[in-house]
Amino acid sequence: MRLGRTLPPAAALVPLVSVLHGLSGGMNGASEIRRFEVELKRYHAAEHVFLVSSGKASLYLILKALHRLRPEKDGVVIPAFNCYSVPSAIVRAGLRVRLCDIDSDTLDFDYPSLEKLVKSDKAGTILAILPTHLFGVPSDVPRVRRLVAGTSIKVVEDAAQALGVRVQGGRLGTLGDVGFFSLGRGKVFSTVEGGVVLTSDAEVAEAIKEELRLFKEYNAAEIFWLVVQAVVLSLFTDPRLFWIPKALPFLKLGKTRFDPGFSLKGMSGFQAGLSRGWQPALKRISAIRQANSAVWKEALRGWQGVFQPNVMAPPLSFLRYPVLIRNSDRRRAILKESELRGLGIMTAYPNSLDRLEGVIHQGAGERCANASSVARQLVTLPVHGYVTHLDRQKIKGVFFMSCRKTTR
Ligand SMILES: *Cc1c(COP(=O)(O)O)cnc(C)c1O
Repeated sequence: MRLGRTLPPAAALVPLVSVLHGLSGGMNGASEIRRFEVELKRYHAAEHVFLVSSGKASLYLILKALHRLRPEKDGVVIPAFNCYSVPSAIVRAGLRVRLCDIDSDTLDFDYPSLEKLVKSDKAGTILAILPTHLFGVPSDVPRVRRLVAGTSIKVVEDAAQALGVRVQGGRLGTLGDVGFFSLGRGKVFSTVEGGVVLTSDAEVAEAIKEELRLFKEYNAAEIFWLVVQAVVLSLFTDPRLFWIPKALPFLKLGKTRFDPGFSLKGMSGFQAGLSRGWQPALKRISAIRQANSAVWKEALRGWQGVFQPNVMAPPLSFLRYPVLIRNSDRRRAILKESELRGLGIMTAYPNSLDRLEGVIHQGAGERCANASSVARQLVTLPVHGYVTHLDRQKIKGVFFMSCRKTTR
């Protein structure tokens, strides 16, 4: 365990002044939530926005709504290298997880596999496909749309890690039939926990409204706990103090769990209040992330056994910068050195979803070879605003301690 300066992997900012806004938002209640909804709608040019307690709850809500419209369909196709929250939400919604392998070059779907899945679905069991922008790396949503054209399969964009990222076709989260963001602790912008659903499809929005009636409100004790967490986040995200929460195992920082037992609530006024001023804050944060991502892209170019996803035009702002390291001993050494020196190099998810035995039983049999090798090779580098020049030098040093530059 390290005592001393430690870079957090993601560092969503919750300034202390936001906690005060949150508290005043708690007083304003519905009007504060309304304000956040209107701002999100305008920013994304979306017709309908719904605010809930987490990204998982957002996805659950979307899937229940789609299933309400198409009760005979129950398959939900997701990339096999993914956050465990995603299968948690699918299982919670009573639906079936269908895994699709990924392309290790782009971290997006392996499109030939996706095409095979769609073409072989003669009985029409697939309800939705979830292009997923992992680390803010854009998935090719237009390509998924073309693939499902002429079917009733819905495209649900998992933009949990990609708030504020703009690509050629528009903002991520608005390119599918319906999309969602997470405002959880490890994401770009956080309200401690929270989720946003966006859609411009009137029929889907109506079904979502129906399902949303079954969601609860936060009670006073839960709000109090949110306030405590917001204060802790605002104080301890700074690298000088981050080692403290990191050393507390019950906080489970950076852990990803399969757990369909999560709660389903509408967003509170406190959380909406925390978001006040999110647009300028997001713009600032994204510019820093974009600049740091470009630095990593340049610094890692041409090193033997180190592979970067092939995704940088236009310049993008990543949540964490993903890199594949082919040699497992070297990867282990890098992670260990980073842990000792508090440099914030992290793995993402311990395994691909096809390896989560007993959870994704439908995936059993279909092994997803690329997803599982990415799970074994991936590390992510921090790109947030606390990363200093000296940190970058140290990270490069650790990264290349056992590595030669190729002569190209
Ligand atoms: C974090 C995340 C989610 C779930 O969001 P929570 O707010 O943590 O429930 C879903 N999908 C992806 C890709 C995520 O990274």
